[in-house]
Amino acid sequence: MPKRSSFDVRIRETQWEGAACVGADTNLFVSDNKGHKRKMDEYQAKKLCKSCPLQMACADFALENHLTGVWGGYNDEERKALKIAKSILPRGRTRLRRV
Ligand code: SF4
Repeated sequence: MPKRSSFDVRIRETQWEGAACVGADTNLFVSDNKGHKRKMDEYQAKKLCKSCPLQMACADFALENHLTGVWGGYNDEERKALKIAKSILPRGRTRLRRV
């Protein structure tokens, strides 16, 4: 069974109105597949995230709540790198800008 609980909680929250993933296959975001299939799931999830107006807020939410899967267009490893990048932001800045 896919680990969807945190994802399902997220999409029930009103703060996620307008999210591109509402109604999408949640298995893409928290894939139980391995290898190439997992990469393909991740690719499809990230594709949805690219069109989402909540992308950076979503990535921040996942970082703050230590979630797994694709959030804000980033997988677990990419969010770890994002966390490190955020830790070296200049004083007063709390968010990364999307490049
Ligand atoms: S950034 Fe991606 S995972 Fe986050 S709300 Fe938008 S579509 Fe969903």
